[in-house]
Amino acid sequence: MNLLKSLAWSVLAGSLALGASASAFAQDKGTIGIAMPEQTTLRWNSDGAELKSALEAKGYTVDLQYAGDDIPNQLAQIENMITKGSKALIIAALDGTTLSAALEQAGAADIKVIAYDRLIRDTENVDYYTTFDNFQVGVLQANSILKGLGYPENKGPFNIELFGGSPDDNNAFFFYDGAMSVLQPLIDEGVLVVKSGQMGMDTVGTLRWDGATAQARMDNLLSAFYSDGSQVDAVLAPNDGVARGILSSLKGIGYGSGDLDYPIISGQDAEIPSIKAIIAGEQYSTVYKDTRELARVTADLVDTVLEGGEPVGLDTTTYENGVKTVPSLLLTPYEVDATNYKELVVDSGYIKESDLQ
Ligand code: BGC
Repeated sequence: MNLLKSLAWSVLAGSLALGASASAFAQDKGTIGIAMPEQTTLRWNSDGAELKSALEAKGYTVDLQYAGDDIPNQLAQIENMITKGSKALIIAALDGTTLSAALEQAGAADIKVIAYDRLIRDTENVDYYTTFDNFQVGVLQANSILKGLGYPENKGPFNIELFGGSPDDNNAFFFYDGAMSVLQPLIDEGVLVVKSGQMGMDTVGTLRWDGATAQARMDNLLSAFYSDGSQVDAVLAPNDGVARGILSSLKGIGYGSGDLDYPIISGQDAEIPSIKAIIAGEQYSTVYKDTRELARVTADLVDTVLEGGEPVGLDTTTYENGVKTVPSLLLTPYEVDATNYKELVVDSGYIKESDLQ
């Protein structure tokens, strides 16, 4: 009797264990591949981590890869994710035009493809795009420069130099065009003067968003166009890494000491070293994009689509990739300067006060 009882218990316990593992198995909703570009621009580290934890919380396994700024490496990582049977790919592309062949395979295998932050161009095999309003980022940068210059109370003319982002990143054109929608009329009126005459993304772009490249270009601009005693009053910098490269160049020839004030310099990403530079009065502003929210809405979108639902609230007119208009989710960017960084980036928990000490 006792033996029978204990046998019965072990059968029951076994079936409970089986049941438990079966339901744990049912919870695994498959693998999502995340392809991130690099880790030098600080945001991509948190984008990757936030995406991973949001997707894992929904029951997915995550394959998160960083490409170290190497285009063939990113392509190989994505091909590998496709071969391993990912259900969806979330891609922040290094070069938004080089992925067509790989994404054709993804399309054929019915793998959903989400362009993350940066649009993937020249392919129909991209299902959705999640990003911030990139044109507006440029508008915020330009308006912030005007505010820093005290325009229109101060009438100018002001010397300004222009920097763009990486020409293989579709976003770079939106940032530049947004900024120029504000700056160009003032350049035409003579309020802003580009002493170097260097304008247009083909001339002012910064390959790979590299701070050292920007620093070298600023060195050249300063020696070629400002050694006559004239001063740079403002610099359009497309992101914080580029802004800090420009600042190093300016510091090198004495800006920020004696009577030589730093120019008004814009930025983007609200990176800790740049918020510190803003507090120290070196960089004037940055643009805060809550990448935690971008990761969350992207994870929700992926889950909705994989569960057979229809995502809502998409912009279906703005982002044409050369083949199709990609349905997009656009979040709002905010200008941040010394007057509002506390409220926007510290109180929101994006940056810890202690990281700014
Ligand atoms: C992103 C920016 C970032 C830049 C460099 C752009 O595509 O939108 O936030 O600063 O890439 O990584």
